[in-house]
Amino acid sequence: MNPVFRKYLLIFLLSSVAGVIALNWLSKSHLRQILVAEERQVDIVHQSVIDAYKTHADLLFYNRIDRKEILSIFSNAQTAPENSRKRLYGALVDMYEHMSMFQLKQLHFHLPDNRSFLRFHRPGKYGDDLTAIRNTVNYVNQNLTPVTGFEEGRIFNGYRFVYPLFYEKRHLGSVETSVSMKMITNDLSKLLDADIEFFIDKNVVERKVFESERSNYEASKYIKGHLVEKRTAGESPSLVDKILEENRDIFETYAAKMKEGKTFSIVQSLNNSKYMLTIMPINQAITHERVASLIVVKKHSELNLLFIKELIVMIVIILLISIVSYVLYKLEIRNTIIEKISITDALTKISNRRHFEDVVRQEIGRARRSENYFSFLMLDLDYFKEYNDTYGHQEGDNVLINVAKVLQELTHRADDSCFRLGGEEFGVLFIGLDPEASLHYANTFKTAIEALKIPHDSSSAGKYVSASFGLVTMKANRDIDPDALYREADKLLYKAKQGGRNQIATSFS
Ligand code: GH3
Ligand code: MG
Ligand code: MG
Repeated sequence: MNPVFRKYLLIFLLSSVAGVIALNWLSKSHLRQILVAEERQVDIVHQSVIDAYKTHADLLFYNRIDRKEILSIFSNAQTAPENSRKRLYGALVDMYEHMSMFQLKQLHFHLPDNRSFLRFHRPGKYGDDLTAIRNTVNYVNQNLTPVTGFEEGRIFNGYRFVYPLFYEKRHLGSVETSVSMKMITNDLSKLLDADIEFFIDKNVVERKVFESERSNYEASKYIKGHLVEKRTAGESPSLVDKILEENRDIFETYAAKMKEGKTFSIVQSLNNSKYMLTIMPINQAITHERVASLIVVKKHSELNLLFIKELIVMIVIILLISIVSYVLYKLEIRNTIIEKISITDALTKISNRRHFEDVVRQEIGRARRSENYFSFLMLDLDYFKEYNDTYGHQEGDNVLINVAKVLQELTHRADDSCFRLGGEEFGVLFIGLDPEASLHYANTFKTAIEALKIPHDSSSAGKYVSASFGLVTMKANRDIDPDALYREADKLLYKAKQGGRNQIATSFS
């Protein structure tokens, strides 16, 4: 593989990897923002729904229950319980029947010792001690302040609104109303435009709910140790069910997150679509222990778009990087070729005069640093004008090409280089040979050109094509001026021509 190509392939790969990592980081932090926003929205909407029901409960309590006529009836609960219960029922049954308008269920009076006094939803069931199961009732009767919170009860679960009752400064007990979890999830579902399921810890239900009422629940197929409200037969599986079917161990997978006790959102896929799944803890009132969870599933079009966008941006980035890399690669290749062309002689393919100007300075510098011998050999073909006249310009060109080949073959050492200086004139630079060795080396050129045995009938210097040489050797223990060097070699070359051609004139300094 060519090294320039390898370099740009590497640049392409590295930039692509960097691009993908950066994009991935960006989209991850974008996703995180979306998830945090979702977590907050679920929490806020949930709290608002509870608050709205609390307002309903307060309205009923302060307008209808916490009134003299009702309290006076309840004040006889200990002395004449049957009569008190009957009258209380009679006084509030109309309100109880209208409570469903506010989605409030149940109206339940308790005595100060937490015994049930009157359940409007089961008037025949009373007298049972709620202390062990109903923390809210116990708390209100002890602390004499109202309480709101989730609690599983004997019959059903929900958010409780429990208020203490007093008559003429005497504590009579407490009353509660509540909203079922079913109602809350319905509201949340509408407000959030999401599918919602409620999962309650099996142990909590077994500990609290009347055995006869447990048939409201069934074991969740997807979350171990949890119950869901019983599905009616033939009910099609909800979106939550479908997603959980693919992620049965979700509570185990996110155990650490669950432990934090906060609402959290994650992304789940189903049939190539992305869904946002939010798990919200439901804590028991008073004890604050986690007893249940809400799972909210929302199809999130922005989320699906986010992944598609990310994919498109990724493709575009890689495409752009590959185009840029390719253009840079082509440019570099072109520049290399142009550079090569600019320093190469078109006819002979060896270095040209322009390159000579650069190399001679470099080589002088190199020899100067090591105070070494430095030589410049200049040569010019003899009677070349006559050669052209005799054999034609084309044949002349071939001679130049062949002579250049000879020069190239003889200058294979790293310290040697050859050039076509112009016309039928060539130059050789070499370092490290003393005057004697330099002359010897120069002679190999002279002999090699003669050895080509290119007939040259119109030459007065011999039968074959030959050249005259000017050889300058210097000890590079001082600065050498390239122009002076050139002039000196030219002078020696002239001398060789004068001396009869096909010979070498030398100087050493
Ligand atoms: P001398 O021995 O004194 O060097 O005589 P000469 O004829 O070689 O020198 P002169 O300077 O009179 O002529 C140089 C000739 O080289 C003239 C020109 O036609 C020929 N020449 C220069 N460049 C090229 C070339 O690229 N191709 C060919 N075929 N001939 C060239
Ligand atoms: Mg000549
Ligand atoms: Mg010439």
